[in-house]
Amino acid sequence: MQKGKINVTTDNIFPIIKKFLYSDHEIFLRELVSNAVDATQKLKTLASVGDFKGELGDLTIRVNVDKKNKTITVSDAGIGMTAEEIGKYINEIAFSSAEEFMEKYKNDTNAIIGHFGLGFYSSFMVSDKVELVTSSWKEEEKAHKWSCDGSPEFSLEEAQRERRGTDVILYLDKDSEEFLEEQRINEMLNKYCRFLPVEIAFGKEKDWKDGKEVETEKDNIINDTNPLWTIPPAEVKEEQYKEFYRDLYPMSDEPLFNIHLNVDYPFNLTGILYFPKISNNVEVQRNKIQLYSNQVFITDSVEDIVPEFLTLLHGVLDSPDIPLNVSRSYLQSDSNVKKISSHIMKKVADKLEEIFKKDREQFEKKWDALKLFINYGMISEEKFYDRAAKFALLKNTDGKYFTFEEYEKLIKPEQTDKDKQVVYLYTTDKDKQFSYIESAKAKGYDVLVFDGQLDVHFVNHVETKLKDTRFARVDSDSIDRLIPKDDTTKDNLTPEQKADLTPVFQSQLNNSDHFIVSFEAMGETGQPVIITQSEFMRRMKDMSEMGGGAAMYGNLPDSYNLIVNTDHALVGNILEKTDKKLGKQVGELREEKKKLSDERSALQKKTEGKKDEELAQADKDKLEDLKKKIDKIENDRIEKLKKYGKSEKLVKQLIDLALLANNMLKGEDLARFVKRSVELIK
Ligand code: ADP
Repeated sequence: MQKGKINVTTDNIFPIIKKFLYSDHEIFLRELVSNAVDATQKLKTLASVGDFKGELGDLTIRVNVDKKNKTITVSDAGIGMTAEEIGKYINEIAFSSAEEFMEKYKNDTNAIIGHFGLGFYSSFMVSDKVELVTSSWKEEEKAHKWSCDGSPEFSLEEAQRERRGTDVILYLDKDSEEFLEEQRINEMLNKYCRFLPVEIAFGKEKDWKDGKEVETEKDNIINDTNPLWTIPPAEVKEEQYKEFYRDLYPMSDEPLFNIHLNVDYPFNLTGILYFPKISNNVEVQRNKIQLYSNQVFITDSVEDIVPEFLTLLHGVLDSPDIPLNVSRSYLQSDSNVKKISSHIMKKVADKLEEIFKKDREQFEKKWDALKLFINYGMISEEKFYDRAAKFALLKNTDGKYFTFEEYEKLIKPEQTDKDKQVVYLYTTDKDKQFSYIESAKAKGYDVLVFDGQLDVHFVNHVETKLKDTRFARVDSDSIDRLIPKDDTTKDNLTPEQKADLTPVFQSQLNNSDHFIVSFEAMGETGQPVIITQSEFMRRMKDMSEMGGGAAMYGNLPDSYNLIVNTDHALVGNILEKTDKKLGKQVGELREEKKKLSDERSALQKKTEGKKDEELAQADKDKLEDLKKKIDKIENDRIEKLKKYGKSEKLVKQLIDLALLANNMLKGEDLARFVKRSVELIK
C-alpha cells in the first residue's frame, strides 16, 4: 500500500473547502455526477476516434444511497483512472486534466464538462471520508482504491473492480445526513442533472400495485439526455417548444413566442428563450432563465451575463464559454460574456422585428404583454433602443397602434407648436383624464396612452431621443396652451376685470397658495373652470416618487393652475354680479388708488437720481405714507372681493366641478359639494 500526502500548498485546504469554497453544499452531487459524465464522454470520444476498441456496454451513471452505512456512491463506466492518473489528477489538487484532454481531442464533438475548480474535492464538504475505486479503460492497468479521511493524508492500494469505470463513495458526516433522504437527492438531481447528456439512474421506477407503491425492475432515469435546446432548430416543432416550457415552468401561462439560439462560432451558445406575457408587475412573475454549461445546470441568476431587461425572459442558455468560477466584475468584463450578451440582444431584436414585419396584426395583439419588456430594453440599452425604435408601438386612446414614424407623420400637421416642436399628448389614466382627452380630440389632436409601470421613465427617455419633440400630459395645461400656436393667449377681459375676479376665485380655494389663478378664452362650450398641473412639476414629482434622481421635488407642495374660461356664460354671470355688487365701491377705491399713485410717481420723479441722504425728511415721510395708503386701499379692495366671493355659491360650485373632474374633490368637501348641488337644483 502506498501512503502519501496530497500535494497542496496549505495543510488547511479541507476546512477551507468545507467552509468557504461553496456556499451551497449540495453542489457536491453536481460535481461528482458531472465528473462521471465527463469520464463517460471521454470514453465515447476515445471510441469514436478508434483509440478505445472494446465494448462500450451500459454507460448509465448510477447514484446510490446506503442509509445504513450512511454513504452515497456515484458510479460510472467511463474511462477510469490508472494509479498514475490518480496521482496526477486527484492528488495534485486543482490540476485539471480536462484542459490536457481538450487539447488532445479538441476537434471532437463530444462535449467535455469544463473546469469547475476543485470539483472532486467538493465531496469533502459533506463527508468524513471519501473513497474512490477506479479501473482504467486501458486493459493492462490494475484497479485501485484511493481513500482519504479529510486530512491531507490519503492511501492508495490495488483493488478489485468488475469493469472499467469509477465509484466515488462518500461517507457522509454528521451535519450532512439530510443528503441520505431520497427526496433530497431527487431534488438535487432534478436541479443540477436534469439535462445531462448521459443517462443517470437513481433507484428504480415505481409502480402502483394493489394500492401500494412498489419498485419495478426498471432503472429510474432522472434526466433527459437530449433536451430540446440541443436539437437543431429546424427539427423542432412549435408544440415541442410549448411542452418544454411547461416542463420548465409548470405553473406559468403559455409564453408569447420563443427564440432558439444555436451558435458555434465565435463562441458556443445554445438555448431557448421564451417571451412571457408580462402584466404590469415585473417582480412577481419572474421565472428565471437557467444557465447551463454543456447541459450541467450552473445557476438561475444570469443578471451578470445578460443585460438586465433580458432577465425578464424565461428559458435556458447553455454555453461552455462563460467562465464560471470568476468574480462578478470579471464576468461582466469578460469578452466572451460581452459577445454572448450582445448576440442574445441582437437575436431578441431580430425576432421581434421579424414578427412585426411578417405579421403586424399578431404583433399588435401581443403588444400589451410585450410592451414592458421592450420599453425596459429601450430605456436601459442604447443598442436595443436603436433596433426597437423601428418596431416599438405607441397606442392611442382609441386602441390603435402606431410605430414612432407613423405616429409622427400622423400628428405633425396638427400638433406642431409655435416653436416647431411636435407635441405628443398622452394620458396616464383614460378615466380620470377623460374630459381633457375629449377636449383634445375635439380640437383634432390625438392622445396616447401611457399608463404602464415604466411609462414615466419611458416618456422621459424617448423625449431625449426624438428631435424637436415634447411630451405633454393631456391635463397639464389648457388645450390652447398645451400646443401653443402663437404667442398670445386670449382672455377677453380688461386687466381690471381680471384683477377683480382673481380674489373672488381665490376666496373659495382651500389651499389658495397651491393654486395660480389665470384667465383664458376657452370657448363657450369649454368647461367654465379647469385645473391643470404643469408637465414639468408633475414629472419631477413622479420621478422622485419612483426614486429617480429628483428627490428634492418630492418635498415641494403640489402646485396647480386654476384656469377660468372667460368665454363661458357662467363666468360672465359672475363677472356681472361682481360688478353689480361691488363695481361702484371697487371703482372708487381704484380711483383713489390712482390719485395716490400719481402723487407718488410725481414725487418719485422729483427725487429721482438723488441719494438717500440727500432727500428731505419730509419727502421721505411722504413717500412712506403714500405707500402705506396705497397698500391699504389695495388690501381693502381684495378683502371686499374675497368676502363677496366667499358668499357666492356659484364660484365655489365651479371650482368644485373642476376639482371633481381631476379627482381632487374628496371627503368633507365632496359631501358639501353634493349638498350644495342639490340645493342649487331645487
Ligand atoms: P475537474 O473535473 O474540473 O477537472 P475535479 O477535481 O473534479 O476537477 O477532477 C480532477 C480530475 O480527476 C478530472 O479532471 C479527471 O481527470 C479525474 N476524475 C475525476 N472524477 C473522475 C471519474 N469519475 N472518472 C475518471 N476520472 C475522474
